[in-house]
Amino acid sequence: MRVGLFGGTFNPVHWGHLRSAEEIRELFNLEQVIFIPTNISPHKKSQELVSPHHRLTMLTLAVEGNPFFSASDIELKRAGTSYSIETMNYFKQTAQEELVPFFIVGVDAFLEISTWKKYQELFSLCNFIVMTRPGYAIKEQEQLIPHQVKKEFSYCPDERRFIHSSQFSIYLAEITALDISSQSIRTQVKNRRSVTYLLPHAVENYIEEHVLYIS
Ligand code: ATP
Repeated sequence: MRVGLFGGTFNPVHWGHLRSAEEIRELFNLEQVIFIPTNISPHKKSQELVSPHHRLTMLTLAVEGNPFFSASDIELKRAGTSYSIETMNYFKQTAQEELVPFFIVGVDAFLEISTWKKYQELFSLCNFIVMTRPGYAIKEQEQLIPHQVKKEFSYCPDERRFIHSSQFSIYLAEITALDISSQSIRTQVKNRRSVTYLLPHAVENYIEEHVLYIS
């Protein structure tokens, strides 16, 4: 079972997240993409972070009707700071059938991988798919791999992937550039500007109904 695990704050979820997940699903032949909102992110300390409940509900509304997509409350249930290593272990241990896990992440987030808890262990637990994102061009592919672990990887240029000694890989995926961020949406909402066509209509309605991101 090839499963994509897509973590993020999703504050709120937008078309950039959804379109990239769709392209990755198709490119990598994934049977499922699970969106996993963080409870407390060790990397993002935003004053504007709305409750985990709101972020999960918006995600649920966004993926509704797509049989390949779902939203997981695993990090919210675990409470406290969310660490990907714990989430990955959970999915591997509880999977009904053998799991081929792909951790989906934008290049901006992956460039900080060396700050993630037990990141070296993570390379032995799952594949990574690193997606391009406007504003975060990298000069050379090698730049992606933290120097502490460079020796553990070999690069296969034809397949645009780094193969780890564990046989898991880090794939680079070029996706349609959609320059949308949750931050820009929050700013627009705060300034009472339209966010239509930046995110699903149901999510836009939810933000309005619950008066999110205004103050
Ligand atoms: P914020 O603006 O609040 O920092 P964000 O828009 O970056 O948020 P996150 O929820 O932090 O959204 O992102 C989750 C994951 O999705 C990250 O790995 C990020 O790199 C990726 N991502 C977000 N937006 C895009 C986009 N427009 N294109 C490609 N990847 C994206």
